[in-house]
Amino acid sequence: MIDLHRLSPLVAAITPSATVAITTRAKELRRAGVDVIGLGAGEPDFDTPSHIVEAAIQGIRDGNTRYTAPDGTLELKEAIRDKFLVENGIEYSLDEIAASCGGKHSIHNLFTAVLAPGDEVIIPTPYWVSYPEQVRIAGGTPVFVEATADSGFRVDPEAVKKAITDRTRVLVLNSPSNPTGAVYPRAEIEALVDIAIEHGILVLSDEVYEHLLYEGASHHSPAAFSPEARRHVVTMNSVSKTYAMTGWRVGYMGGPAPIMRAVARLQSHQSQNPASQSQAAAVGALRGGLDAVAEMRDAFDLRRGHAIKSLESIPGIRLVRPAGAFYAFPDARDLLGRLGGRFPDTTQLCAHLLDAHNVACVPGAPF
Ligand code: PLP
Repeated sequence: MIDLHRLSPLVAAITPSATVAITTRAKELRRAGVDVIGLGAGEPDFDTPSHIVEAAIQGIRDGNTRYTAPDGTLELKEAIRDKFLVENGIEYSLDEIAASCGGKHSIHNLFTAVLAPGDEVIIPTPYWVSYPEQVRIAGGTPVFVEATADSGFRVDPEAVKKAITDRTRVLVLNSPSNPTGAVYPRAEIEALVDIAIEHGILVLSDEVYEHLLYEGASHHSPAAFSPEARRHVVTMNSVSKTYAMTGWRVGYMGGPAPIMRAVARLQSHQSQNPASQSQAAAVGALRGGLDAVAEMRDAFDLRRGHAIKSLESIPGIRLVRPAGAFYAFPDARDLLGRLGGRFPDTTQLCAHLLDAHNVACVPGAPF
């Protein structure tokens, strides 16, 4: 007899998110009255800007309280279309756009829409922890290509080329990167996209940190490079990080119409639509300019300066300075040695930092 509570093999194999685990523990401590310094979650600590909140409230008053089209309201898709054109230089038509319940949902549905069982997805490491799990949930196989600290945590196009097989379907590109803050210069993105074009592979360009750039770094959207690049790239984004809207759950993609229509069909049976009020808020965000974003970016930059200075002053820590996003990915292996084996790995070190010093960090291994 089958175990009554047996899980599907796909779901049983999912590992819990390392960042969510540490954030949950930090929240528990906070509830117990402990003053925790939270460096765990990839989440702006700012409130959603007031003009966006007002857009949501007005949206509710205006009757945005019903089902919408599965891939977003006309107003939202038009706002996304205009954003892609003005900010990224990509001209998408409305049938090349799909909004989902957050960027995680967009990526999950993209993989579900395009992967056949056993299809491979190349993911540069260190990676955002959800990519491999999302590939596996969609029945695919993640293939990892290491980007080392020596190369600024940017993957070598030659190494990507070597990892390609006849099962490779997607290459993941995340610039600025979670967790390293690495930002790819245009020439390196071009080299990667050229490889994808040569081998008939899709590129998932995850651009959720596009506006969080420091020290003169700039962002490049590969779909804008050429008509051929546009045919191969799915440009993914989200209002979460840009506008401090992590809880609202609106993500979106621009890409080839057959794939975006498939995502819309999938959503019509799955989640239906992103919450209608959240869509109204997202329209307010995308149409409301980038002033609030610039303010938050400046605050992140200040903190980044403190983090770099502090980390670089610790003997045994090696840091590749992040040029984007709001992460630092220090190498603490020397430090572990200096501490005389007191902590066998950074998971133990992070547990100690939280329990003894009330600082919530995430260990590097899961990335
Ligand atoms: N992509 C990257 C690289 C991320 O770090 C995150 C969130 O942590 C996401 C996508 C998804 O964000 P959301 O689902 O809030 O839109």
